[in-house]
Amino acid sequence: MENNEFLDITLRPRTLKEFIGQKKIKENIEVFIKAALIRQEPLDHVLFCGPPGLGKTTLATVIANELGVNLKSTSGPVLERAGDVAAILTNLSDRDILFIDEIHRLPRVVEEILYPAMEDFTLDIIVGQGPSARSIKIKLPRFTLIGATTRTGLITSPLRDRFGVVFRLEFYSADELKEIIRRSSKILGISIEEDAAMEIARRSRGTPRIANRLLKRVRDFAQVQGKETIDLTVAKEALAAMDVDSYGLDEMDRKILLTIIEKFNGGPAGIESIAASLREDKDTIEDVYEPYLMQEGFIERTARGRVATRLAYEVLKKKIPERLF
Ligand code: ADP
Repeated sequence: MENNEFLDITLRPRTLKEFIGQKKIKENIEVFIKAALIRQEPLDHVLFCGPPGLGKTTLATVIANELGVNLKSTSGPVLERAGDVAAILTNLSDRDILFIDEIHRLPRVVEEILYPAMEDFTLDIIVGQGPSARSIKIKLPRFTLIGATTRTGLITSPLRDRFGVVFRLEFYSADELKEIIRRSSKILGISIEEDAAMEIARRSRGTPRIANRLLKRVRDFAQVQGKETIDLTVAKEALAAMDVDSYGLDEMDRKILLTIIEKFNGGPAGIESIAASLREDKDTIEDVYEPYLMQEGFIERTARGRVATRLAYEVLKKKIPERLF
């Protein structure tokens, strides 16, 4: 296993108590879990939506741990044929969880197998071909489907309607990220000063995955310098070397803003044109970059396209056009 991947798993919270932030979601999940345990029933199907790195997969594993059931993990693009998902479903034990990441990318045939499976725990399959083909029903174990998606808009309504609960994850506050960083540094075996943890938190784009990644790089810098504690000086130095600015914007964020400002005169610019100009996938811009840039007020979405705000000009040290005065 690749080292990074390994660290990712060890840093992953295992219980709801260890899971920092997303207070409302956690409170709800706690009730659902308790109720399911009292009734000895599987948890209702759950859909998690939100940008990458906010904890969707983590929450699925936390739920499985709290319920004391197995979690089988797969993803939309991996399930190509109806048989792929049928094989997984028939192998589950009572109340197990099936986690499907990128569920918006499920092929149609697979999605259709899931409808009766989610609703009545049955599998409708066709055996044979031509005139002798017939449909048979197979009883499945009772299970919970947990889906994760970065793109709620791309989930078909018949699929979405079959989820009992839909949770939208939010970006984390700097204080929450600071707590995550402190917890991670403990696990990684290095101490960190309060202000250094806050500095990394502020530059993590509201995202725990980024916070952990930055922490690991800062730790490298500290250890190379023979420091046993991460202090503010080494944190700032490492972050500057990694090109992370004080707003937490990374290179791609800045490129997107620069493109709107320089190539499209501040906008409005269509997402397709921005993507083409950057030679970047349109979906990646919409799912990964735009939500944060919008939340933090760097761009606005208008009917005619994306517009750079005054803040974007200020951050990139570009002359602010008169229309924004
Ligand atoms: P997603 O599935 O939404 O892309 P993940 O669940 O894989 O995101 O989370 C990315 C990483 O961030 C995880 O490995 C975990 O270590 C960390 N993480 C996510 N959410 C939290 C949290 N609330 N508290 C602590 N660590 C978290």
